[in-house]
Amino acid sequence: MNKAPWYQPYAGWMRVTKQEYDLVQGEGTMESLRRFRWVVCLMVPLHLVMGFLLGRYRAPADHPELQAWAATVGPAHWSAALLAAIGGVAAHYVLRHARASATAIALQILVSVGYIYLGAYLSIADLVANAGAGLSSFMLICIMFGVLSLMRPAISVPLFLGTYLVFAYLLRHAPIPPQHNNSLNIVAFFCPLLALVASLMVWSQFAKAVKLRRQLSRSNQALVAQQRELAFLADHDTLTGLYNRREFMRQAQQELNRAVRAGVPTHCVMVDLDFFKKVNDLHGHPVGDAMLQHVAAVLLRGVRSTDTVARLGGEEFIVLLPDTARQGACDVAEKLRLLLRSSPLVYLGVELPMTASMGVSGTTPGQKASVGAIYAAADRALYVAKQLGRDQVQYASPEASELAAPSD
Ligand code: GH3
Ligand code: MG
Ligand code: MG
Repeated sequence: MNKAPWYQPYAGWMRVTKQEYDLVQGEGTMESLRRFRWVVCLMVPLHLVMGFLLGRYRAPADHPELQAWAATVGPAHWSAALLAAIGGVAAHYVLRHARASATAIALQILVSVGYIYLGAYLSIADLVANAGAGLSSFMLICIMFGVLSLMRPAISVPLFLGTYLVFAYLLRHAPIPPQHNNSLNIVAFFCPLLALVASLMVWSQFAKAVKLRRQLSRSNQALVAQQRELAFLADHDTLTGLYNRREFMRQAQQELNRAVRAGVPTHCVMVDLDFFKKVNDLHGHPVGDAMLQHVAAVLLRGVRSTDTVARLGGEEFIVLLPDTARQGACDVAEKLRLLLRSSPLVYLGVELPMTASMGVSGTTPGQKASVGAIYAAADRALYVAKQLGRDQVQYASPEASELAAPSD
């Protein structure tokens, strides 16, 4: 049996971590550019002040090397101010106009490397003249960018390794008093190393935070979707997507109350498919379900957008017609009956015709009625339509005893 190589678990971990970091680097880059934009606002004035002060600096006559130092470092600060401003504007532009992209990452690396090498240049100049801040500029800038610039290890490790190699090379070839070389080499080695450690720690925290935030956002979205679905299920019928009985009763009562105040009539049409049981028996329940969905679509198509269509249950539907009098409601019912008759369900290429019986009822202008009253009357009318042979419209008025005061 072949044994898995010892490094396999590590290789798997590396692969997963790389995939995670691939997904986070874009966000890390955009955050870094946002940070650069702020830092540039501080650094540009600082470089300008330094450039100005060094320009006015007059070294003592017995230290000509200090004058040469000021003449080297001063222009370096002027150039740094200019380049930092350009970097800041570029970061601002990328943040405004681009999404996380290869260009954004390139800009992040360019600004980080540029600044670190400025630190190296300033430190070498300081060391050569034994003036200024010595190695501190290099150390500060290294650590500053290790913390500020959010870089995955695949970027930060080569960046800081390269920084060390370049700086060590410069140290070796710069005219620095040789007795300092060993100690300088050690400190120069630890500057990028410390910056790298800081960078790795900050990056790993950032990657964890982004991962958690994304997980949270995903579960939030799922929760919102679930809540939306629950809210939908509370007042809709799942098969047809129409309002359910409870929601219809609520809306209808509201409409009846409004109609009394407005002095307008309201009617409803109860729709019951004829011999629907046969559809189930002959073709199966899935076909019956498809027919119910089809009927729902036909009814919606046949009424105005201000009318309300609901499924009461089984093969019974109801349509609420606000501001509609008896004759208008009977006309709508007749139109729907004909529409259903002429719209057979086409299932797997086979036409399945259908008919429906309709019961109409409602209120006259200003008449007070509960939704239960007109529902009961429409049901009676429907019963009559069934008794008289189905596929027809019948009307019934609400009984005087049913016209109890509606709830306001
Ligand atoms: P009538 O003309 O007198 O109204 O006869 P009908 O067969 O339409 O009425 P009946 O009340 O005898 O049968 C209604 C059938 O509707 C019985 C039931 O199986 C079926 N049904 C109720 N709800 C659903 C559903 O959600 N899907 C399907 N496929 N069938 C349903
Ligand atoms: Mg029925
Ligand atoms: Mg029926």
